[in-house]
This record gives sequence, structure tokens and C-alpha cells, in this order.
Amino acid sequence: MRVVRGERFVGFCGGVKRAWKLAVESSESNDDEAVFISGKLIHNTPAMQELETMGVRPLPVSLMDADLPAVETAPLAGRTVLMRAHGESPTAFARAQNLGLNVLDATCPIVTVVQKIAKQLEDEGYQVIVFGHRDHPEARATVAHTEHGLIIESVEEAAELGHYPKLASIAQTTMLTADYVELCKVLENKADVFDDRGRICGWTQRAQGEAVELAHTVDMMVVVGGRDSSNTHQLVRVCSEVCPTRHIVTADELDEAWFDGIETVGLAAGASTREHDITAVISWLEAH
Ligand code: SF4
Repeated sequence: MRVVRGERFVGFCGGVKRAWKLAVESSESNDDEAVFISGKLIHNTPAMQELETMGVRPLPVSLMDADLPAVETAPLAGRTVLMRAHGESPTAFARAQNLGLNVLDATCPIVTVVQKIAKQLEDEGYQVIVFGHRDHPEARATVAHTEHGLIIESVEEAAELGHYPKLASIAQTTMLTADYVELCKVLENKADVFDDRGRICGWTQRAQGEAVELAHTVDMMVVVGGRDSSNTHQLVRVCSEVCPTRHIVTADELDEAWFDGIETVGLAAGASTREHDITAVISWLEAH
């Protein structure tokens, strides 16, 4: 089979590269001591397993639990914790400091900007709406930087909102731009003053654009990325609208039966997919 890989926006984005580098450097400088992460550093299970082999693993306690017994938290003092790339709430940062943890912030700088915008808008009297997934850590952390922010998942949910004097919308950075535009059309009729401050990450937008362009030129697309990765799911969604598309996490999941009659396969990957997972898929496809 001939395999065509997306040209530029395939695999680790800038935010993930930064978080990964921080994790690797911390593991190297902490010798035999484990380095902790506030949750999944990035949404890719094999990548998280690789970090675990380097001694980088999730904290054994939740930073959102205010009533942890001292016997569980005392051993954490002085240890290093990386705050995940999706961001954490101000409460989680404060609690990590109180526990005496050495905090390294691996939040993607783009996400940090979104959090600041959310807070600033609320300070200016806006009801802040975050277009995102209710169970996604980025959307949850962004809303946690406000007092009254709301996560809205769909146009239908937006339609059910009441009327506000001032309403402002922002977006989880990995949402689909087209969906966000539709949402804003509804929100602008829900307030006397509406401010659209959505920032879908540039990397996400370009990766989606590149994948769609590629999907138009091949018989089938394979998208490599974590099952819980929002940007990977968006890639699968936009490619599926153009040609048959398969989502896999690693090459082990590939099945010869999928490729009967297929001559050319396009390859896209989520922003938290390791390079060697991508090359393993390409090698498998080229060998079949
Ligand atoms: S997809 Fe964009 S916002 Fe998310 S971590 Fe990567 S660069 Fe940052």
C-alpha cells in the first residue's frame, strides 16, 4: 500500500512537546525519586505508560480532595508535581503548594491564555460560556478559573440558556471551528452584549485542515491517537466525512481485512501521539 503522511501537523503539538520535555527533564533530575503528575499529562495511554517507566506517574491523591489524611500527604512534601498540559484549577495549584510539593506547570501556554481571558471576562461582568466537553480536564480547569462559568457542549444546550445582559464565549482549544461558529450564532441572541473570544488552537485547526485535504486524495484515512484525546476524535470526525477512516492508538490494532482493495492510505495523528507510534503504523501499512 502507498502511505501518505500529513505534511506538518501530525503528532506532538507545541504544548505537548513542552509538557513532555518537562516530564523527561524532571525524571532525569530527580534520580530515583518518582515525579508526580496532577492527572494524565497528555491524552495518550502508551505515552503515559512510557512516562511511568521513567518514574513519572499520577499523584496517589487527588488535589481536589480537601480532606486528605496527613498520613497520605506528608510523604509528598518536597516531591515534584507536574501540572498537566490541559491545565488545572487554581484550587489544585493552591493545594499542591500547601502540601509542600515542588510545582512545575506543564499547562500549554495557549490554554493558560484562555484561562486568563475567562477570568478577565468574568471580572468585566460577563457570564462566561466555555464550549467544550463537560468531562474534559481542559474545559473543567478553564471554568474553574471563573466563579460562575458554564460548560456548554452543543448548540441545543446553548439554545436552552436564558437571556443575559453580558455573555462571552470561549472554546476548549481542541473543538471544531465550524461547531463553535454555529454555537456563537445561537449565543449572540442570548444577550444584550455578546463577546466572542473563542480561541481554537492554531495547531488543531491546521491539523484538521491538513487531514481533510489529505482525505480527499486517498482511498482511506488512518488516524493515530489516544482514545480519550479530543483533538484525535475531531480528526477522525472530519476525515470520516470525506472517506472511510479508522482510529487506532497503536499499530497492533491494525487489521489486514480493513484494507481490501485499498491502494492509498492517508495518515493523520493526534497532538499527543508519539513519533514512533506514527512510524510503526506507516511501516506496517507499507509492508502490507
Ligand atoms: S492542541 Fe494546542 S492548545 Fe492543546 S496542547 Fe497542543 S498547542 Fe496547546
